[in-house]
Amino acid sequence: MNYRHAYHAGSFADVVKHATVALILGYLKSKDKPFCVLDTHAGGGHYDLLADAADRTGEWRNGIGRLWGKSGLPPELGPYLGAIRRLNRAGAGSLRWYPGSPRLTRILMRPGDRLVATELHPVEAQALQREFAGDAQVQVKRMDGYQALKAFLPPPERRGLVLVDPPFEKTDEFERMAKGFAEAYRRWAQGVFALWYPIKDPAVVRAFHQAVIATGTRRVLVAELLVRPAVDPERLNGAGLLLVNPPWTLADDLKYLLSRLADTLADPGPGSARVEQLVGE
Ligand code: SAM
Repeated sequence: MNYRHAYHAGSFADVVKHATVALILGYLKSKDKPFCVLDTHAGGGHYDLLADAADRTGEWRNGIGRLWGKSGLPPELGPYLGAIRRLNRAGAGSLRWYPGSPRLTRILMRPGDRLVATELHPVEAQALQREFAGDAQVQVKRMDGYQALKAFLPPPERRGLVLVDPPFEKTDEFERMAKGFAEAYRRWAQGVFALWYPIKDPAVVRAFHQAVIATGTRRVLVAELLVRPAVDPERLNGAGLLLVNPPWTLADDLKYLLSRLADTLADPGPGSARVEQLVGE
């Protein structure tokens, strides 16, 4: 396990994922009932963008760095940027701290909502345990994220989001994710699922989509952003989310948001966005 998210925190791929998660949590909060978020590959709680790891790749400069302090951004970014502002409120408007998905979720949760965050890397898991020590709304476990899908679903709240965001270090990660999802869906077909994936070779992504379709899953949406045309399968050309049971206005919100982000985050261009329903009701 070599992957450390500190090198990639705040990248364009994080922007797409975290802005979408923030929108989903907004929809979940529109009802009074509590929800549960299961974050299977949680990473750390928060990241220092001025530290060596983030500085070495500079990925955040082409992600959150292109949005921070800018005017005229799409309103769909509101919940996401609001959460990052809260994390940086001591810094007089400057950007230093970037939330990992568990901290982002925690900021956006209400009293009564719950987060279960699992992480396998011993150092990350320990940091996460420290981050949420004494927080009764957050349960952190050092364990395999795919095992977590079996251990924690369905949640007693029967409402919520499952975020699956593996590092894609292993060549069979797409297969593992499709298989893990299929089992999770059998346990909890009503949950909202967000499965993140890198877009290097589009053919590999299509095979993953087909594998999910073959499980018989209903209500599947894909949302993808390319920062350049995907011609070189060795490069991270884009990022996508396969969303199951998306809240009903999410597709339209993402269509607008990702088309705007495709312009802002292109490297240097042309970027593109795709939001498409793979499977209907
Ligand atoms: N979800 C985080 C976020 O959005 O801020 C980023 C997660 S990062 C892409 C993937 C994480 O999965 C890494 O922290 C890595 O240590 C962890 N990981 C790798 N294999 C795992 C496994 N089998 N189960 C759980 N976590 C795993």
